[in-house]
Amino acid sequence: MSDTILRYVAADPYWQPSPENATKAVSLLETIVPGADEVISSFEDEVRFYDPGENWSGVKCSACGTDAEEWWGEAMETASADGFKDLSTVAPCCGATVSLNDLRYIWPAAFGRFALGAHNPGIGDTTGEQDRKMAECLGTPLRKIWGHV
Ligand SMILES: [Zn+2]
Repeated sequence: MSDTILRYVAADPYWQPSPENATKAVSLLETIVPGADEVISSFEDEVRFYDPGENWSGVKCSACGTDAEEWWGEAMETASADGFKDLSTVAPCCGATVSLNDLRYIWPAAFGRFALGAHNPGIGDTTGEQDRKMAECLGTPLRKIWGHV
């Protein structure tokens, strides 16, 4: 059996909310997905990569649009060895300096030190209005990631 996880990750990968705001955001998300198994906030010491699991559909260079999957793995390894403190890398396809967080993940993915997650939310998708409310509640722009594990 596979599980679906809806995650909101801050657009700024280093950002974290106050514990009070995180609690508020959990409550708000619970009202959006009342049927979810669990809604949790997670704070991480180091930046981590929130991948979409089985929804992974590849990655392209943000500068030139070339398929980046070939060099992405190695760039990820190099960056993760340093706890993802530096997400910038030189794309071998075009030589541009790009952020791993800004590459074109065909299915959305993101780096972050904070995430709000709903386990098996039981809905098809949230609305743009709900997404906006979540971002307002946390006070920062968010990325939404639908993962399948
Ligand atoms: Zn490129």
